[in-house]
Amino acid sequence: MVKLKEKFYITTAIPYVNSEPHIGHALEFVQTDTIKRFHELLKENAFLTTGADENSLKNVQAAEEEGISIKQLCDKYSGKFKTTMKLLDLSFNSFMRSSSKEHVAGSQKLWKLCSKDIYKKMYKGLYCIGCEAFLTESELVDGRCLEHNKAPDLIEEENYFFRLSNYQKQLEELIESDKLKIVPESRKNEVLSLVKGGLEDFSISRSRKRAKGWGVPVPGDDSQIMYVWFDALNVYQTAVGFGKDERLYKRWWPADVHVIGKGILRFHAVYWPAILLSAGLQLPKALFVHGYITINGNKISKSLGNVINPDSMVEKYGIDQFRYYLIRNVSPFNDGDFSEQQLVERVNEELVSNYSNLFYRVTSFIEKNFSGKVPKSELDNEISELIKEKTNEYKKKLSEFRLNEALEAAISLSGEGNNYFQQNKPWATVKSNKKLCEKTLFNAAQLIAAVSSLLYPFIPSSAEKALKALGIKPSLDAKVKAGEKIKAIMLFKNIEADIRKEAEPIEKINLADNMIPFKEFQKVDLRIGTITNVDDHPDADKLLVLQVDLGEEKRQLVAGLKGIYKPEELLKKQVIVVCNLESKEMRGVKSEGMLLAAEDGTILEPGKQVKNGSRVM
Ligand SMILES: [Zn+2]
Repeated sequence: MVKLKEKFYITTAIPYVNSEPHIGHALEFVQTDTIKRFHELLKENAFLTTGADENSLKNVQAAEEEGISIKQLCDKYSGKFKTTMKLLDLSFNSFMRSSSKEHVAGSQKLWKLCSKDIYKKMYKGLYCIGCEAFLTESELVDGRCLEHNKAPDLIEEENYFFRLSNYQKQLEELIESDKLKIVPESRKNEVLSLVKGGLEDFSISRSRKRAKGWGVPVPGDDSQIMYVWFDALNVYQTAVGFGKDERLYKRWWPADVHVIGKGILRFHAVYWPAILLSAGLQLPKALFVHGYITINGNKISKSLGNVINPDSMVEKYGIDQFRYYLIRNVSPFNDGDFSEQQLVERVNEELVSNYSNLFYRVTSFIEKNFSGKVPKSELDNEISELIKEKTNEYKKKLSEFRLNEALEAAISLSGEGNNYFQQNKPWATVKSNKKLCEKTLFNAAQLIAAVSSLLYPFIPSSAEKALKALGIKPSLDAKVKAGEKIKAIMLFKNIEADIRKEAEPIEKINLADNMIPFKEFQKVDLRIGTITNVDDHPDADKLLVLQVDLGEEKRQLVAGLKGIYKPEELLKKQVIVVCNLESKEMRGVKSEGMLLAAEDGTILEPGKQVKNGSRVM
């Protein structure tokens, strides 16, 4: 019996198309494409959906600002997104616009399937258009949304609600058991603590008036338009035929993985699965949650003027160079900083001096000394084991979405290839021991075939070009045949940093401005202390109130660690405290200092027990 190919369905988040794509989008597109192409290497049938979220109030607002119709705005920016995706070699199979007829019909179908959980009520709440969400008081800092640094609007109207509260237990089980797998673990814990904290029903419609008539009409009620988060995620389904082509839908749904940014985790890990459960549909299998790209440590934002257009990066440095850097330098799970200088260094060091150099050395040697034909010989055991080992490591890392580590495995195989070539000195053996020289080149050819295949998901067009020159296609068991006529090519050339004006932040935040004199740093009073008591903050969801023993004195600190650590994990932990920080009221509780933690909330601790009050220098 012929074994049917396994299917793999992956999606990018569906971006709001209210402005041009930036490098944060590019990161996600490249990550998603890399995972998809990896599954193609595994010989699966892969399908990638992306698209445009066009039904948001943000778009309505942006159109008003630009003085064009909403349709015109969506056409314009959807087009720009699509262009950027193509430029980045995103191999999407569907680009679904949420204003399209089939999506509207599919979303009305979804609504009807959920009808037992939908009811109408009067509602009053604080709405952040940036988030496209109602926020609770506890999510605000000084009355402003943290993510958008803006005060939300007070909205009061009659809306439809979804009985999210019905699904709390089920969601908890699904997430805890990894039936809905959330990667990385820290994000899984974040969602679990949110779900366990209790789920409230949420509004899934808005008045036609507030929506300015734009969006998916609620079936059977002309006065209401669907809340954008109710219909937007349904793009993942309508792109594969939901509500239109049952056969196509059955073939691809459920999604194997949704790739999303950390800012929209709640919608994907809580709202979306609850909606699907209510509708009696299958849930996606996994969420891969990536961090954000920062620029010189700052969030990308229009107001900071540090938005970098990915198209210009591709134009300056090349598609694969840009793709390689994004995956290699930016951690898949945490925030990562973008720097053109680092891009250039990474590319020159690894793509040029390592991979491209090896490829050219081997192919040009064969061209020159064996008239372009791969010599007949046999595969060395050591080489075969090395390729196997690196390929297994690579597969494991990619299946865990550790894209940067998988890429490292691939490029380190190339490094081994260079060592092998260097140690076996074919330029000497070609005269003294032809047989040995043939063996070296045969094995080196297998190495460059393996490296190029492993690199294929990351730098698809260059890897394809390389493999074509070897007469083969990307595959995890790529072998170059003896006697095959190959071509010598130079895949990459050194690049130089081309840091022109437009790529620089408008508000120039250069290194010099970020530096502080040593004298200033010395003023920071860092001391070791032990946490002696942990309490919940009386008035904030994410904050804990800690008592810390600093030897000669005790301090009270308020820290955003709830959900990251359990109180018992914190108790007796030694921490590093900034002692001479001005004290601050945090939602009514005094905080006298700050403890040091990594950006994911992991607390910095001394490696062994230290006397409380010891200075850190
Ligand atoms: Zn917001």
